[in-house]
Amino acid sequence: MCINVKLCSKCKLEKPLEDYYKNKRFLFGVHAWCKKCLIKNASDYSKAHKEKCKARTKLWRQNNLERSRELVRKWHSEHKDYMKQWRAAHKERLSFLVKRWRDRQKEIKQSETISSSTDPFCKS
Ligand SMILES: [Zn+2]
Repeated sequence: MCINVKLCSKCKLEKPLEDYYKNKRFLFGVHAWCKKCLIKNASDYSKAHKEKCKARTKLWRQNNLERSRELVRKWHSEHKDYMKQWRAAHKERLSFLVKRWRDRQKEIKQSETISSSTDPFCKS
């Protein structure tokens, strides 16, 4: 008996082996799911977890404020020339943003009870 079709364990359709991605870990040396099902699953997954990923990054930033600031500072110190040029090109916009950022930091500080802050803009 020559096996050249395989049942996809996802869509339950019999498909030729060419319709499966090769994977040595599986029986017949191909995936249990056909290409179509694998692609669909992967795109569904990334769609379903897009917001989750974003939320996780946001949560991390909130829980690691100092670390995240540190990373920003590090990036800035490593890209001094770029920042210089960027600052010169965005002078007005930047002063507006800094002002807005400072106001927001003040609000955050008032609502939080963080006693020690290494924030360079909020030395008290
Ligand atoms: Zn399938």
